[in-house]
Amino acid sequence: MKGLMMDYQLTIPSILRRAEQLFARKEIVTRLPDKSLHRYTYADFARRARKLAVALRDLGIGRGDRVATLCWNQYQHLEAYFGVPAAGAVLHTLNVRLHPEELAYIVNHAGDRVLLVDRTLLPLFEQFRDQVRLEHVIVTGAGDSVPEGMLDYERLLLEADEGRYEELDLDENDAAAMCYTSGTTGRPKGVLYSHRAIVLHSLGSALPDALGLREADVVLPVVPMFHANAWGLPYTATMVGAKQVFPGRHLDPVSLLELLAAERVTVTAGVPTIWLGILQELDKNPGAYDLSSLRAMVVGGSAAPRGMIKAFEERHGLHVLHAWGMTETTPLGTAAVLTAELQQAPKEVQYDYRAKQGRPVPLVEIRARNENGLVPWDGRTMGELEIRGPWIAASYYNAPEAADRWTDDGWFRTGDIVTIDARGYMEIKDRDKDLVKSGGEWISSMALENELMAHPAVAEAAVVAVPHPKWQERPLAVVVLKEGQQATKEELLDFLRPKFPKWWLPDDIVFVDQIPRTSTGKFLKRALRERFRDHLMEATG
Ligand code: AMP
Repeated sequence: MKGLMMDYQLTIPSILRRAEQLFARKEIVTRLPDKSLHRYTYADFARRARKLAVALRDLGIGRGDRVATLCWNQYQHLEAYFGVPAAGAVLHTLNVRLHPEELAYIVNHAGDRVLLVDRTLLPLFEQFRDQVRLEHVIVTGAGDSVPEGMLDYERLLLEADEGRYEELDLDENDAAAMCYTSGTTGRPKGVLYSHRAIVLHSLGSALPDALGLREADVVLPVVPMFHANAWGLPYTATMVGAKQVFPGRHLDPVSLLELLAAERVTVTAGVPTIWLGILQELDKNPGAYDLSSLRAMVVGGSAAPRGMIKAFEERHGLHVLHAWGMTETTPLGTAAVLTAELQQAPKEVQYDYRAKQGRPVPLVEIRARNENGLVPWDGRTMGELEIRGPWIAASYYNAPEAADRWTDDGWFRTGDIVTIDARGYMEIKDRDKDLVKSGGEWISSMALENELMAHPAVAEAAVVAVPHPKWQERPLAVVVLKEGQQATKEELLDFLRPKFPKWWLPDDIVFVDQIPRTSTGKFLKRALRERFRDHLMEATG
């Protein structure tokens, strides 16, 4: 027997309609390239998003066509987040930190027909313009004119007749957005989000035991809108009607802290590097910024070090919410929110749990597998994390060679090596390819990194596997010290000693000025492994 409920399609225009009806006067603030602030309302935003849909359709863009963006976190990008899918087209966010060659590959692979590019990023576009086939290039942002052959976004909107906006009869399983993985292994792969996945993800991530977003919030995504849809925050915030604040391209700690304070932000989100920088600035100038409204700093993309979570809480009264996800998972998969029972536990135990990646949000299921099969949820046995749910990718776009990322029964193989404990808290121990395999035993590079970063003199630490004549691989720690701080290799090893078995300790610690990063802010361990490949061979050989 079938239920007798309406067949209501879960689509992005339904979020837009709600936002306009209920939150018309709420504000959206953007920091412009000249650092001044642009402000307008949800009503303005919705009108312009619809005009964009009309303009795109006038350009001949329709169902399933890919519209790429090369933009910062800015209001025009939000308009594209809604206007492009409302036109039936697919929003394809391009990562501005990629190499031009890689951008050209992605644009061509996706078959993008239109590009929306921020004026400040035109020099980047010029570097791959000749290698791509685009029918229209639209330039956002203030300026007198646009380069020959390109269209001016403002003029396009001005001329679009809002009255001709039509709600399309969209299927919730239609593609709405697309994002390529950062491709630390092999070529980047396209993840194609459906309207349904984005709507359900917005509901799931707004729940109190996930990110807990509500109308009264003021949300500032530092995580770029080209990195897994800024973790879905623009959609989630619009669904709940929160005030939104976009930092544009000014992502240094002082600019961010000023904006967080001035706009009374309640929830912000970004990768650990951002927060490590902010922590250093707050330590240097305690009391300089009024962050009394800030109730959660969501940290993901890489592991939030336990020491950082604790330092924010104890030195600055700020709450870090650790979450895990992937481009392939829209992206929220798990969040480290404490259960009622753990809220009664001693503080140190709470930090242990909050430094894990957390429990799956509703509708997401996890399990882990090693060579013996599915691992027990004992918090000790490591295995590769597998995941399924309505906002988890079922395949990549036009990449049949990657079909082995899914199990025979349809779960996505994440490549993250984890433990899951009896309460369901998942903890990442490593990326599959980053594990240190010493004499056949596994060493977690992340556990060592986290502990090193808890040392007061350490700003950042990455641990990589390097070849070793006897043990095949041994851990090597690469450390950046905080400005004006000192620590020797012996001091750091002594600091690690009580917490790890002897054979886990890095064979050497090297000090560098900077750790190379990927386009999405993760340590580029491949480059470190390359650079230090012979380090232990020479030392011991
Ligand atoms: P991306 O698709 O660029 O978002 O990268 C996804 C990968 O980032 C995951 O597979 C993890 O390896 C890593 N990652 C994301 N969040 C976390 C986290 N909270 N802790 C550790 N690693 C993370």
